[in-house]
Amino acid sequence: MEVPEVEGRTKNGKSMKKSHPKTTKRCQCPQWQDCPHDRVSADVGAGAVVKAGRKMYWAHKVSTFALGGPIEIPLDAVAMMDAASHDSRSLVPHLERIETRFPDVIKNLDIVLDDSALDDEAIRKQVKDCQGLDLRVEPNRRARKAIEKDLPKGIDRITGGGTPVCEAGFPLDLLDVRKKLEQFLFRAPPIRKASRSASTARRGTPVSGPRRSVVTS
Ligand SMILES: [Zn+2]
Repeated sequence: MEVPEVEGRTKNGKSMKKSHPKTTKRCQCPQWQDCPHDRVSADVGAGAVVKAGRKMYWAHKVSTFALGGPIEIPLDAVAMMDAASHDSRSLVPHLERIETRFPDVIKNLDIVLDDSALDDEAIRKQVKDCQGLDLRVEPNRRARKAIEKDLPKGIDRITGGGTPVCEAGFPLDLLDVRKKLEQFLFRAPPIRKASRSASTARRGTPVSGPRRSVVTS
């Protein structure tokens, strides 16, 4: 299917090409090429959707909302007006829609979960200010910088994905999550025989003896 491109602008004002569906006329005029009726989109809401691996699809995009817990209860699913818009654009309008349709639901919620596309301080603040909810998301590994200051002893950095790396260069393994204390418990990775000689040569002798744990929060 042919996907025409039109000029658009990003939120920073930069010009960009954006894909939109073909247009058509819904009227039945015999001389439809010259009639005064407006052309309308032939497939409202469809757009170029980029998925993992940078694969592109001509598709519609749906925002869904569900109550989490021991079982998940779907509450709402609504087609987005423009499938080519970024995933982060759907949460705030969808929360407003849920607030109108099910006000008691929003009143009784504390936390809203979403994926790494929503790892954005401005959206987090908006959700907190408007609905009083804590937005929790997976960190966006590509956008987050490593933390290099105020770290536990022996830790060189915490990567953008949240993994502590020790001063000898080894990423630590996640051991457990202490939900009440909001802490993640890590420990040194087991020494793998195959890579031991390479690691030893490159980084010095790995520490032996009982492994110590590191807590980040
Ligand atoms: Zn017409």
